[in-house]
Parts: sequence; structure tokens; C-alpha cells
Amino acid sequence: MKIKIFNREICVCALLDTNSVKYERQRRNEEKMEADVLKKVPVREQDAKVRATNFEEVCLGYDKEEAMCEATRCINCKNAQCIKGCPVAINIPGFIEKVKEGDIAAAYQVISEASALPAVCGRVCPQESQCEGKCIRGIKGEPVSIGKLERFVADWARENGVKPEGAAEKKGKKVAVIGSGPAGLTCAGDLAKMGYDVTIFEALHEPGGVLVYGIPEFRLPKQAVVAKEIENVKSLGVKIETNVVVGKSVTIDELMEDEGFDAVFIGSGAGLPKFMGIPGEQALGVFSANEYLTRSNLMKAFDESSNTPIMRGNKVAVVGGGNVAMDAARTALRLGAEVHIVYRRSEEELPARVEEVHHAKEEGIIFDLLTNPTEIVTDENGWVSGMKCVRMELGEPDASGRRRPVVIEGSEFLMEVDTVIMSLGTSPNPLISSTTKGLEVNKHKCIVAEEDFGATTKEGVYAGGDAVTGAATVILAMGAGKAAAKGIDAYLSK
Ligand SMILES: Cc1cc2nc3c(=O)[nH]c(=O)nc-3n(C[C@H](O)[C@H](O)[C@H](O)COP(=O)(O)OP(=O)(O)OC[C@H]3O[C@@H](n4cnc5c(N)ncnc54)[C@H](O)[C@@H]3O)c2cc1C
Ligand code: SF4
Repeated sequence: MKIKIFNREICVCALLDTNSVKYERQRRNEEKMEADVLKKVPVREQDAKVRATNFEEVCLGYDKEEAMCEATRCINCKNAQCIKGCPVAINIPGFIEKVKEGDIAAAYQVISEASALPAVCGRVCPQESQCEGKCIRGIKGEPVSIGKLERFVADWARENGVKPEGAAEKKGKKVAVIGSGPAGLTCAGDLAKMGYDVTIFEALHEPGGVLVYGIPEFRLPKQAVVAKEIENVKSLGVKIETNVVVGKSVTIDELMEDEGFDAVFIGSGAGLPKFMGIPGEQALGVFSANEYLTRSNLMKAFDESSNTPIMRGNKVAVVGGGNVAMDAARTALRLGAEVHIVYRRSEEELPARVEEVHHAKEEGIIFDLLTNPTEIVTDENGWVSGMKCVRMELGEPDASGRRRPVVIEGSEFLMEVDTVIMSLGTSPNPLISSTTKGLEVNKHKCIVAEEDFGATTKEGVYAGGDAVTGAATVILAMGAGKAAAKGIDAYLSK
């Protein structure tokens, strides 16, 4: 409920003089506590100076009172634009309505009808360009904090043992899912809810894809959040076999012809890193962001007691400006290095989420913009000792619509660094396509699959996520997994 004070609409819950609200007022700045309908209820975060030295989660999320207060900002639009902005079409006003009522278990059931990974999405989805980007509240003020509400509901459900509901009847048909990232988990979860017998085959020793090996602990806790959401998918009846590299341990044809799978979904992601091709890139101390993050996240190299070493570095250059670059930079910072982001365009063109850039700056990452490496310099033992760079300026827009960076003549300089992390994007690994007859790929090695239901050029085989689009987002991969589950269901119901 909202009332007007001095021409400002205020959430009534912000004005209640209960003990908990008093406590909240003491705990936080009073001005922030007033839930002005034009502004999001602020979310608590670890202090930037403290978090720059640890791997604990940066954002602390809403508590129930804050979530209920933020939920009152949603006006439950009839033709809710926010749903149109969500690739898995969560009934956003529906779950927010339940949060308003304080019925968080019901809110969770509404979300889990559409999403298998709400605690993940509430943390890492680019809501500003999706649901929140379309929220009607955003026209005059700040959009409803849909992501933080989703995160609160999912965390509450996990802490209170609430699980998604499974299928009542079994279909008696087997589906193999390759890869346990967001695309595979979503496809598997949806198929299990429809009654299919689903097995996920995962190459690594832990399921989760980029959620476990790429996105760092301080943005997405592995055991507390990702492992628990994977448990929820398993609780629907999905089996997960790890250490199975499809294309080497077994082929898709063998799965279908010898092991009795009626259909296959490929959600194998885009894990092959790209490099610049400049001299010195093979030097000791040069990493792809994927390797660097995998050592830290999956192999726990940041932990002193881990067996997997990581190059800590004193001065680290991260080349690139996307989310992956921010993650690698913030990881290196936490490992004790001075870290520079080296990006050839300006701040405006940085592809990373605004929130990630903001967090990186707060923590002390140095941004060397309009700068491009030309050569990695090494010492007599072959270790990185510096990186030659040139300064850039922006010219006319290129095919991507962004202004093309142009070298400023005579601007070459040497940056003294001992570690270089290349974060220039990734492409799909060709292992599966090269071992599966009749599976077409495009010139970028992405699997060709039709958009609506993920059917590939091989009968009974569907695909989605980064393996089809190239590196994209968690929620787009989940949307593709959902679409393919519908496609597989239609195919097996013929
Ligand atoms: C560091 C980093 C940070 C990111 N941050 C964000 C973010 O904040 N927000 C966001 O929305 N997106 C982010 N992304 C992108 C997002 O994580 C991906 O788009 C998403 O994970 C793609 O999901 P997927 O299921 O298609 O593939 P993946 O998550 O890559 O999963 C594919 C799985 O398939 C397995 N696999 C591959 N080949 C085989 C095989 N032959 N046999 C068996 N298994 C196989 C892999 O081991 C992996 O587990 C980030 C990506 C990275 C790398
Ligand atoms: S668009 Fe915004 S205000 Fe409208 S239903 Fe969605 S979240 Fe609520």
C-alpha cells in the first residue's frame, strides 16, 4: 500500500514503527530506508575495501521485510512488459504479488514453473536490459528490483527446504542431455517435469558449466547456491553422469543406437578461448580468462590448501572489457595483484554489465581504456615482463554499430606487467560436431539449430545455449533449453 507525503508516494511498510523497522533504520542510512516508489529499496553489499580482500559474496540481498517493501512498488500491470523482457517468461507480477502478501513459498512455486535456477538468475542475469529494462516503473523512476526479489525468494525457499514440484506420470522415454550448464539443466528439468527419463552427461567432474567454472564465488557461491539448485533439478528425477566427454567417451550416435536414448539435447556451451595472435602470446604467465577462472573457481586455487596452483602475479593486465574480463580482474585483485583492464574502446562501449564495472572500480581495478596490446615481452626465462600497447581513438561506426577504434600513430608504450589474462571471447569446441554425422555447424563452429524448438539438422537431436549462439547469457541459454524441451516433447509425442 502507498500513501502520499509531501507529494511523494511512500511504501507504508517503510513508515511502520515496528521494532524491526527501527532496527533496520539503525542498520542503514535513514534516507535509503524510505522506500520511495521512484527508487528501489537499496540492497546491502559488503564494503568495497573489505570485499576486495576476500571471496565472500559481494551482494548480501534483501531480507523478508525489505523484499516485501520493494514488492509494494510493483503495480501488477495487466499487460506486464517485464514478462516480455524475460527469456523464460516468468510470471513476474504473479510472484511479486505473493511476496507482497508475505507468502514466499507460493512466490517460489510461481517462479519455478518457468525457471529451474532462480537463485542463479537473481544474481547474474542482466536484468537492466531484460525484465527490469521493460518495467513500467522505470519510465519515471527506477524499475522494480525484480532480480533482487527473485534472488530473495529462491534463497528463502532453499533455506526453508521448499522444492519444485515434479511430474505425476512417467512417459517411458529416455533423453540424453550433453552438458550441465544452464541450457542443459533447464532442458533436463523441464523434460523431467513432463515425465521423461533424463540423463545429463557432463565432461567435467562437477556439474554446473560456467556457473561453477567461470563465474567467481564472490558473485555466485558454488556450494551454497549453485550446488543446491542442481540438487533441485536432480530431485525432479534427473540423473547426472560426470567425467563423460561426449565425442570421446561415447558418441551421440552410440547414445541413440546402442544406449536406447530416444532424443538428445546438446548444451555443450562455448568453452574454446580466443587469443589476439600477437607476438609473445605463448609466454609463461599468459592465460586465457577461462583457464585462470577455472583454476580459481572449480579447482579452488584461491584457497591456500588447494593442490591446483595459480599464478598470483604482482601486476596483472586483463585484456578485454566484458563480464568475463571483470571477473578475471576482480579475481586477480583478490589474489593480491594490482590489476589493469586493457580495452581498446572507451567506457561507453564496455560490453560488461554496468553493475560489474561499478563494482570493479569500487574495488580498485584500474581501467586503461582506448589501449590495445601489440606484443607481449618476456624475460630471459620466457616469463612475461611487459606488454607493448598503443593508444587508440574512436573513428566511424563499424559493422557492430560501435565506433571503430583506430591506432594513434607514434603512441606505442610499454606496460610493465608480469601476468596477462586474455579475455577476448570464446567459441564452441568442435569435438561434438566433428564426431556426429549429419550435425551441421556454421562458420563460427556454432551448431545450426532452429530458434523456436532447437531442432538441429540431425533427426532427434536438439541444441541450445552458447553451443548454438556463441557466448551469450545464462538466461538466454535457459530460454533455449526450455524451447528445446518443448521441441523434444513434440518430437517424442508424434
Ligand atoms: C566468467 C564468465 C562470467 C559470466 N558472467 C555472466 C553473467 O554475469 N550473467 C550472464 O547471464 N551470463 C554470464 N556469462 C555467460 C553465461 O555463463 C553463459 O552464457 C552460459 O553459462 C551458457 O550456458 P550453456 O549451458 O550454454 O553452456 P555452459 O555453461 O558453458 O555449459 C556447458 C557444459 O557442457 C559441458 N561440455 C562441453 N563439451 C562437452 C562434451 N563434449 N561432453 C560433455 N559435456 C560437455 C561443459 O563442461 C559445461 O559444463 C559468463 C560467462 C563466463 C565465462
Ligand atoms: S512491469 Fe514492473 S510494475 Fe509492471 S508488473 Fe512488471 S514488475 Fe510490476
